[in-house]
Amino acid sequence: MASRLIFKTLSRRHRLCSTSPPFLSKTSASRSASTLVVAEHEGGSIKAQSLSAVVAATSLGDDNSVSLLLAGYGSSLLQAAERAATCHPSISQVLVADSEKFANPLAEPWAKLVQLVQQKGGYSHVIATSGSFGKNILPRAAALLDVSPVTDVVEVNGPTQFVRPIYAGNALCTVRYTGANPCMLTVRSTSFPVPPLAADSKSNGAPISHVDLSTLDEDSIGKSRYIKLSSEDTERPDLGSARIVVTGGRGLKSAENFKMLEKLAEKLGAAVGATRAAVDAGFVPNELQVGQTGKIVAPDLYMAFGVSGAIQHLAGMKDSKFIVAVNKDADAPIFQVADYGLVADLFEVIPELLEKFPEKK
Ligand SMILES: Cc1cc2nc3c(=O)[nH]c(=O)nc-3n(C[C@H](O)[C@H](O)[C@H](O)COP(=O)(O)OP(=O)(O)OC[C@H]3O[C@@H](n4cnc5c(N)ncnc54)[C@H](O)[C@@H]3O)c2cc1C
Repeated sequence: MASRLIFKTLSRRHRLCSTSPPFLSKTSASRSASTLVVAEHEGGSIKAQSLSAVVAATSLGDDNSVSLLLAGYGSSLLQAAERAATCHPSISQVLVADSEKFANPLAEPWAKLVQLVQQKGGYSHVIATSGSFGKNILPRAAALLDVSPVTDVVEVNGPTQFVRPIYAGNALCTVRYTGANPCMLTVRSTSFPVPPLAADSKSNGAPISHVDLSTLDEDSIGKSRYIKLSSEDTERPDLGSARIVVTGGRGLKSAENFKMLEKLAEKLGAAVGATRAAVDAGFVPNELQVGQTGKIVAPDLYMAFGVSGAIQHLAGMKDSKFIVAVNKDADAPIFQVADYGLVADLFEVIPELLEKFPEKK
């Protein structure tokens, strides 16, 4: 590898613009905050991404009381609620909606549930993370409550002022919410990392109460039907929260060649990601897509092989702490955001890395 051009790039991740409208007025949301966090759970535990929404809620104001809403059906829901009650010091109560209607995350019943809980609790803010779960539910719930949601928030500057990316992340826009309560937000989990102390950090659990579902409006429930969940059975970490992500682009050329990348990921304990071009070509399933229309990731180390660095791809990974890119084209835009770039043929580099990295114990 020594004969190849290796360079370290210096500048990346610029804010191109920041706008703040001068004409904005104070809203009801700016009084003392009470926040409903719409959380996701799996296997009896609250998902780490949902804890990021709790972290975002803590920036809304010092006297903010945070209620966590968990819905589902049966024992794993109750187990998740018990764990959630002790998982973050800022959670003041856990609300549980236990019904067969919430056995699967269908948007219609969930949106109705958020509407019901909001009408009873009168929260100033409702927050979910910007994953497929939150993006599916929150805008519908906002429509039912007749408010406009602020989506994809990356910074909270008080109860009504938020920063969100525009133009596929090329510019950051400061916006102020001027509508009626509740102010509804989806937040990027990568922008609100959960500090290690948050795990099981509350010795006295927050109270858990059951939501009274007797008045749940069931009008539109049943319009969609859950068919099945298909996901890959893999021991690799989840792409959204992995510390290392190894991504392949069209340069990998085939599904067969992607297996090299999977081996590399196994050795590094990394998740595998892909560009949309690689997904569209059928090399890997859609759930691995990173970018504007895929997952947003910000791992400690992001390794990109055969990825050109299109703006829509950068939108999903440019906040990674350390970016390494391998591309045979020295002018590929990925090198503008890479901390280390290697101009080389990936079909030589990956086998060499596989040989040099020790087996994972
Ligand atoms: C609305 C919209 C949304 C989009 N959303 C996303 C998104 O979420 N995520 C996403 O990724 N894209 C997205 N795209 C697509 C995006 O514009 C690009 O087309 C895509 O990211 C390109 O993928 P790529 O880098 O794999 O392919 P290419 O741009 O074709 O780049 C392949 C790279 O591989 C290099 N290469 C080839 N062979 C080798 C080799 N042997 N060794 C080393 N390097 C090699 C080439 O030099 C080239 O730079 C979106 C586009 C639109 C319009």
